[in-house]
Amino acid sequence: MTILSAEEETVVSTVRDFVDREVRPVVRGLEHANEYPEQLIEQMKALGIFGLAIPEPYGEVKVSTTCFARVTEELARGWMSLAGAMGGHTVVSRLLVEFGTEEQKQRYLPHMATGDVRATMALTEPDGGSDLQSMRTTARKDGDHYVVNGSKIWITNARHSSLVALLCRTDPSADPAHRGISILLVEKGPGFTVSRDLPKLGYKGVESCELSFDGFRTPQSSLLGGRERQGFKQMMKGLEIGRIQVASRATGVARAALEDALLYATQRQSFGVPIWKHQSVGNLLADMATKLAAAQQLVLHAASAYDSGKRSDMEAGMAKLFASEAAAQITLDAIRVHGGYGYSTEYDVERYFRDAPLMIVGEGTNEIQRNVIVSQLMARMTSPA
Ligand SMILES: Cc1cc2nc3c(=O)[nH]c(=O)nc-3n(C[C@H](O)[C@H](O)[C@H](O)COP(=O)(O)OP(=O)(O)OC[C@H]3O[C@@H](n4cnc5c(N)ncnc54)[C@H](O)[C@@H]3O)c2cc1C
Repeated sequence: MTILSAEEETVVSTVRDFVDREVRPVVRGLEHANEYPEQLIEQMKALGIFGLAIPEPYGEVKVSTTCFARVTEELARGWMSLAGAMGGHTVVSRLLVEFGTEEQKQRYLPHMATGDVRATMALTEPDGGSDLQSMRTTARKDGDHYVVNGSKIWITNARHSSLVALLCRTDPSADPAHRGISILLVEKGPGFTVSRDLPKLGYKGVESCELSFDGFRTPQSSLLGGRERQGFKQMMKGLEIGRIQVASRATGVARAALEDALLYATQRQSFGVPIWKHQSVGNLLADMATKLAAAQQLVLHAASAYDSGKRSDMEAGMAKLFASEAAAQITLDAIRVHGGYGYSTEYDVERYFRDAPLMIVGEGTNEIQRNVIVSQLMARMTSPA
């Protein structure tokens, strides 16, 4: 297991304390009111959480990906929505760090590190998210601007973000299609509307929205890295950290479910004993803990692969696939352990159960992760590193 430095351990324990002290006492109320957690987000900004993936000189407290994953897990243990609020933001941070021009880095990264500028990424369209190459949003050059037309859907944090990494076609006739895709760093303006907030099963409090672009003009300097036709490749790299983040959200939700189930199983009695002493319940708890530990190890494996600088889409895909499926099973089992109370909105386990499936779908579905994993298995078999 990767060991964190003493400083990083402090970062993780600070976030753990924040979650226990500030988040857990209020989360049920915010969740059921579907209320944007303004105050908690402000506290996350003050803790430096939005800058954890941004290195000096643009940021102050860049941490290893292992530390970042553990911070994400802590936040999601308190409320998955809080971890989601910095998910897309982190992908955009890494896109800028790895591919941005110096001007783009200086314009955005210092403000993103403090959370004053929040960012999101817009890939998915109403006609499809998995088949990104068939996207319809276009950006046509006109003088020193691009003119953008199209729509995006499910874009999380869209209302609270002032920067959007927009995946679009700058060369609609390119064959193969991915060679005609670019990323524009867009700020809101005439022709760019956040048109609708989508109703959701879980992931409450933060907005996931439909975006419309109708003759929206953005300067050519908003092209990520100043290079057209690199967007698909750039975004696939960005999604490596995105998928590690989603996997960590899954372990956070699963950990909360396991911890609640363990506590409940010691307090609840039936047939004169705490219920964990019934073998069926004990076995459930043992299986939940084993799946969680395996998921956490896969996340650490992916995080250290990412930090090694090597291509890590396979490792990130494995972590996201396994951790999200484990979280779905663990949260359902936590409901079983709680019996009827597991179905009550006065307990937290029903929230974990509603939040867990997002990690199966988000940042590329698990079916797509399997496609990524097998194609990398084949590629690495034919040309090993
Ligand atoms: C709450 C929420 C927040 C989100 N936030 C964002 C965001 O901030 N930014 C963003 O860009 N997107 C976001 N998304 C979108 C998400 O990434 C997509 O929903 C996801 O990628 C799947 O795309 P889709 O919904 O169009 O499903 P489809 O692509 O239509 O897939 C439907 C089904 O077909 C399967 N399938 C499709 N193609 C294949 C294939 N080749 N092989 C095997 N199976 C296949 C899929 O796995 C799935 O089971 C969010 C989604 C949700 C629900």
